[in-house]
Amino acid sequence: MKRFILIQLVLGLFLGMGQLSAQDEPPTIKVQKVAEDVYLYSYNIHNSLFVVANDTVLVTDPQNTDSAQRYLEEIRKITQAPVRYMVYSHRHGDHISGGDQFGSGFTTIGHVNMQGKLGPTSYGERLPLDMSFSDKLSVFLGDLEVQLIYPGPNESDDNIIVFIPDRKVAFQVDTVGVRRLPWRVFSGGKPSNWRDALKILADLEFDVLAPGHGVVGGKEHVVEYIEYIEDLINAVRERMDRGESLEQIQESLQLPEYADWIFYEQFLKMNIEAVHKEFSEAR
Ligand SMILES: [Zn+2]
Repeated sequence: MKRFILIQLVLGLFLGMGQLSAQDEPPTIKVQKVAEDVYLYSYNIHNSLFVVANDTVLVTDPQNTDSAQRYLEEIRKITQAPVRYMVYSHRHGDHISGGDQFGSGFTTIGHVNMQGKLGPTSYGERLPLDMSFSDKLSVFLGDLEVQLIYPGPNESDDNIIVFIPDRKVAFQVDTVGVRRLPWRVFSGGKPSNWRDALKILADLEFDVLAPGHGVVGGKEHVVEYIEYIEDLINAVRERMDRGESLEQIQESLQLPEYADWIFYEQFLKMNIEAVHKEFSEAR
């Protein structure tokens, strides 16, 4: 018992130290202009898109309390125009908490499926929606149109595309990235749903892909992401048809074409598991 307490004490000390140093370490903040009027704000590994046009600001994802404060500071270096719209990419707390730091006077917008599922998280407050939609909604900053498109269930059942046709920019969070594997077991989503949603994204006319994590890319990165999911599904199903177990598939299956993608080593086995689960259930 004594030993247990001692271990706890030492562990607590270490954890405490970890927290201290994490707090002392300032976050990495970056703002990139990805097209005329369109910017990508990064706080450590999280990205949010914002649009400044015709004396109006539209922001997406405040992320968390600390991030939201810095986000607003960065916007104020560019414009004094009021923030009129706050668009939520999807309901996950690490992306859309902290909106209260923007004050008031703006309209929160998100997919109807997040209605009633918001509220506080460990990252801060997720403000309730003022406006929701099920398929598509256009928001106008003067004459600049920002389209919000729900491509069907993907990483979550409320994850949308933010598309600015006149600037040829598309922003999507968590469902796509530049040369990186889907998160763990596809975040619990169905791989075939991700693929189908990404096909809707790929059909839009854009040049700049702004993802919620990682570097900015282009249409080609959406296309190769779809190819990855298709290659994965085909390879897993082929082995399932041969009667191989999940463990056997995880042991033997490699997709060397994608070996240099981020998370390949960490997540390939979990990605396989997600496909196996979907197509076992489908039988
Ligand atoms: Zn997410």
